[in-house]
Amino acid sequence: MRLVLLGPPGAGKGTLAALLKESLELVHISTGDMLREEIKKETATGRAAKKFIEKGELVPDEFVIRLIEKKLTSDKRVAQGYLLDGFPRTRKQAEDLDRILRQIQQPLDYVLYMESTLPVIIQRLGGRRVCKNCGALYHLHNKPSKKEKVCDLCGGEVYQRADDNEATIRTRMDVYLKSTRPVIDYYKVQGKLKKLDGDKDSEEVQVALMQIFHEDHKLNKH
Ligand SMILES: [Zn+2]
Repeated sequence: MRLVLLGPPGAGKGTLAALLKESLELVHISTGDMLREEIKKETATGRAAKKFIEKGELVPDEFVIRLIEKKLTSDKRVAQGYLLDGFPRTRKQAEDLDRILRQIQQPLDYVLYMESTLPVIIQRLGGRRVCKNCGALYHLHNKPSKKEKVCDLCGGEVYQRADDNEATIRTRMDVYLKSTRPVIDYYKVQGKLKKLDGDKDSEEVQVALMQIFHEDHKLNKH
């Protein structure tokens, strides 16, 4: 199954992605993770991307497309199916993705859109904490680490990302909705869009999604 997962930051994409990855054995392709990896390695792409991310702005298409194209054409594991997370975010990116997928003759099965409201998103992201070392996610109220500011898994430092404060969250949401509307419309026309309620918890969302897959007889073939 080849899926795209859309939704504003904090709509619960990450948690759903983890569930789908496990239940359907999909490769999770997150442009956010790939970019953070570039930043960590201090590559040229990473240094350029960092400036945009810190301001709550989108990283320009050309950087992201290059990372995606490399992944889809050179990583053999993607043949078993994948979940694209955080991409495409603009109509231009959606068109570029279709171009890449036509070349390798692997069209998308679905585009999943997680819809979520601003108060829910602020509550989720404002309390979010991340391990600096392994990337494990925590939440001040829903999932605190056992010891304050220390990762349960690796002992690394657990911190609040610079772009997880309320003002930046509002900016990210505005930027997201403005730029993503054309992407939503693009896939709606193709008949591939499925809307999911991101205000619900991820187990409920997953159940709803599995129902869609079963109804379309998508689960037995890859
Ligand atoms: Zn850790």
